[in-house]
This record gives sequence, C-alpha cells and structure tokens, in this order.
Amino acid sequence: MIDWQARAAALYDGGFRPMFIDGNWCEARSGEVIEARNPADGSLLATVPKGDAADIDAAVAAARKAFEGPWSKFTPFERQALLLRIADQFEAEWETLCLSDTLDMGMPIQRTLANSRRVLGMLRFYAGQAVTIHGETIPNSFPGEIYSSTVREPIGVVGAIIPWNAPIAGSIWKIAPAIATGCTVVLKPSEEASLTVLLIARLMREAGLPDGVLNIVTGYGADAGAALAAHPGVDKIVFTGSTATGQAIARAATGNLKRVSLELGGKSPVIVCRDADIEKAVPVAAMAVFANSGQICIAGSRLFVAREIHDEFVRRVADFASKLKIGHGIAGDTDIGPIISARQAERISSYLSVGPSEGAEVLTGGGRVEGEAFQGGHFIHPTVFGGVTDNMTVAREEIFGPVISALPFDSIDEVVERANATPYGLAAGVFSTHLGTAHKLAHRIKAGSVWVNMYHAIDPAVPFGGVKMSGYGREGGTEHMEEYLDTKAIWINAD
Ligand code: NAD
Repeated sequence: MIDWQARAAALYDGGFRPMFIDGNWCEARSGEVIEARNPADGSLLATVPKGDAADIDAAVAAARKAFEGPWSKFTPFERQALLLRIADQFEAEWETLCLSDTLDMGMPIQRTLANSRRVLGMLRFYAGQAVTIHGETIPNSFPGEIYSSTVREPIGVVGAIIPWNAPIAGSIWKIAPAIATGCTVVLKPSEEASLTVLLIARLMREAGLPDGVLNIVTGYGADAGAALAAHPGVDKIVFTGSTATGQAIARAATGNLKRVSLELGGKSPVIVCRDADIEKAVPVAAMAVFANSGQICIAGSRLFVAREIHDEFVRRVADFASKLKIGHGIAGDTDIGPIISARQAERISSYLSVGPSEGAEVLTGGGRVEGEAFQGGHFIHPTVFGGVTDNMTVAREEIFGPVISALPFDSIDEVVERANATPYGLAAGVFSTHLGTAHKLAHRIKAGSVWVNMYHAIDPAVPFGGVKMSGYGREGGTEHMEEYLDTKAIWINAD
C-alpha cells in the first residue's frame, strides 16, 4: 500500500521550482513568481517563475539554436531511441508523475495512474513514427529528363500552450511528435498547473534530451502565452484550451502567418436510444461528464435520452452520481476530486444557479460540497439537471464542471438535428443495441470523435480533434505527424 501522504510531503515543500530554458533551470527575468496551490485544501505546494515576453524571447532563441544546430544532426533512429528512453524513464517514475498531477490539479490518483497506458503508449507510438517519415518520387511531364521528388522536413520551432486539466497527457501530446519529427518546442503550461510539466522536463533531461529541444516557460496566458503566440521566431502554435483563447491565438499568429492547430472546447451530446442496454449505459453516460470532476473537453454534457426511457434512465444517472465519493485526489477511493481553482468553482456555481432560474430541475447535486474535510478546497457535487430545453444556458454553454443536462427526444432525425445545433463539434456518444441506428448516428453527428456504446476512449494511434468551433488539426495517429512537418519539392534536371 503506497503512503501517498508521505510521498506528497517529500515531493513539494512550498519551495521554488525553476523553469527550463536551453537546458538550464532558471528564474523569470523579472524575478517574479506564481504560487502553486493544492486545489483540494489550498496548501502551498511550490512557487514557479512568472515568465513573460522576455523569457519567451530567450526560450525561442534557444529552440531556434537547437533546431538549426546539433538537433538537426540527430538521425530518425537517434530521435526514436531518445523517445524510448524517455518512455522508460516515465515508466520508472510514473507514480511520482501521477502524484504531482494529483497534488497540483486535483485529478484522483487512481485516474492519473490509470492513464499510464495511454501516455507511455504515446511516447512509444511516436518513437515508431520517427523512423517512418519519408517523401515520394513523383512522375512528371518530362520523363527521363527532369526528376521530381518530395522530402518531409520538420516545421521548426513549435510553441505549445496547454490547459490545466491533464498536464501529463496534454504536454506529451505536444512534445512527443515534435521530438519524432525533429522540431524543437517552447511549452507554456497553464498557470494553474505547471509543476508536473517541470517534472516532465527533468525526466526528459535525465533521459538525454539535448539543450534547447524542449524549453518550458511558466507564466500567465496574457503575457507569456500571448508573447509565444505572436512571436515571429515561432513557426507553429499547437494549442489546447478554450475556444475564446484559441480565437485570440489564431489572431496573434497571423503576424508571421505561423501555422496553428487548435484543440478547443465542446458541448458534446450523448444520445441514448430506446433500445440501449440501460444497465451498461448508465455508468458510462454519467462518467462521460463526472470523470475529472467534469473538467474534460470531451465531457458528454448534453444527455439526450429517448422519451420512452428518459425518466428511468435519468433517475438512474442521478442515483449513480449521488453515490460518487467526493474527496482529496490522493485518497485511493476518491471518484470526484476538487475543481482546479476558486475562480473556476465560482464559474460552475453560477451555472448551478442559472439552470434552475431558467426552469431546469435539480435531480441531484446542485451546489458546493461543504464540511470540515473540504475546507480550503473547491468541491462541487456531481449535478444532474432534468427538464432542460435546448435553449437553456446550461444546454448551450461549456460548463467545464460536473454538470449533466438531460433532454428527452422522440426520433433519430430530431436528435441528430438538435445534437448538431451547437457551435462545437468535439465528441459524441451513442448508445444503441441496433447496429443500423448506431451507424446512422455515428455518421450524421458532426464531431471529431464518436463513441458507440462507450465513451472517453483515446489511443495514441487514433486521431483526435474537433470540427467547427472545437478547433482544427488532429492529435494522435499518423495524421498528427503532418501537423509538425512541411513538404519540400525537389526538381533535378538530368541534362
Ligand atoms: P484557457 O483557454 O483559459 O487556457 C489555456 C492555456 O492558454 C493556458 O496555458 C493559458 O495560460 C493560456 N492562455 C490564456 N490566454 C491566452 C492568450 N491570450 N494567449 C495565449 N495563451 C493564453 O483554458 P483552460 O481554462 O486552461 O482550460 C479549459 C478549456 O480547455 C476548456 O474550454 C476545455 O474544453 C479546453 N480543453 C480542450 C481540450 C481538447 O483537446 N479539445 C482538452 C482539454 C481542455
């Protein structure tokens, strides 16, 4: 039995954790810091540098120097070997990484530990991809006289900006393809959860990552993030976060027309047909939102249920929700951890008030968790709203908290139209035992991922991303490599 409490005390003691530029651990040039607090109890874990535009300049210069210097001499096989060493290093330190995440952003330790297959798989998947990059020889209009071919080249210096809800997977999904393709990275983690990303840099360094290939600048979005998005020395921005910030980043990136990939927000529908296996669908539909306290971009927050089974199904989801164990992430039996910050908990609470004020009925939850055990933290009860209509605020806006809005439907055509009537298009869930219905819905829903009789599955080999205002570009799968590569055509005159 692991004593997480003892390990937690040894891992973070309130001291300063420097950021990582050009292989050096450093303070912000301004000398200012940001406090990293545990969202479960408000205790101070550490302070990190409050990086700004000057630090971003230094990090971009280091990334450029590495990209054009020693890193460009690494063969695909050397980059592959590096990624495999990093994967081994992560595997050896996996419990520490997960503990760090749990302390810094609240995700229950059982959930962070369970994510290992995916994250270690990512590193090993991109290690495999590193040795598959190749161009083509293309027949042209001058056979035998002029030869034409393509080569795939790394895009250059990549600026990566990530949110706080999944720092390990979120950062590895940006860094691993960059290493595989030969790019270099300046990564700005969220100001709400930087500690694990700094730990990741340390492990990568120990695995032999050369100077300047990965640079981490901690800081706020408005200064460090905005400076990175606008920086003329950055060739590509890969961003995960809210749609509003994604729009600001796309605008900032126009200065040097840098390429942009955006993984943004969602208001994903889960559709439960009248022939669904109710027993199996209830826990999956509930955890489609409540996992990570609803702080998941793919949260299936609009629960459409066939009218014939609506009342029973929704009652069972509410019953399931009311039994979830709320607590500190490091308690082994916690299902629902804290919300990341007071600001975010405030935001969710405002939706909990707006729902009933517009006519939604609270079937379970509906407020903050009070009591001595929750002092200093930000905990919200898993909430199910019934009697919701499509025009209500809770059915339209991304809440990013543990809140389900249940909506009845009468026909497949109707539910398709309603499910698609949102600016978002990140994910969807379909529950049906009828193959034809499942197929029809999977094809007609506008979303980057559709899960049938399941939810949440993400795999390193399968592309993930959004349509409409959930963003563009894909992470995962061979398509992900395209986001980090350019194609150059080479013409040879044989005369
Ligand atoms: P956010 O957009 O507020 O912040 C994300 C990151 O952007 C942070 O590092 C922040 O510091 C930075 N940032 C903020 N303003 C910036 C600016 N003007 N210029 C550059 N950078 C800036 O998002 P959040 O609150 O941290 O995360 C929640 C959001 O992320 C939700 O909308 C959620 O759906 C989305 N998300 C999407 C995915 C996905 O894969 N599609 C995954 C996780 C989270």
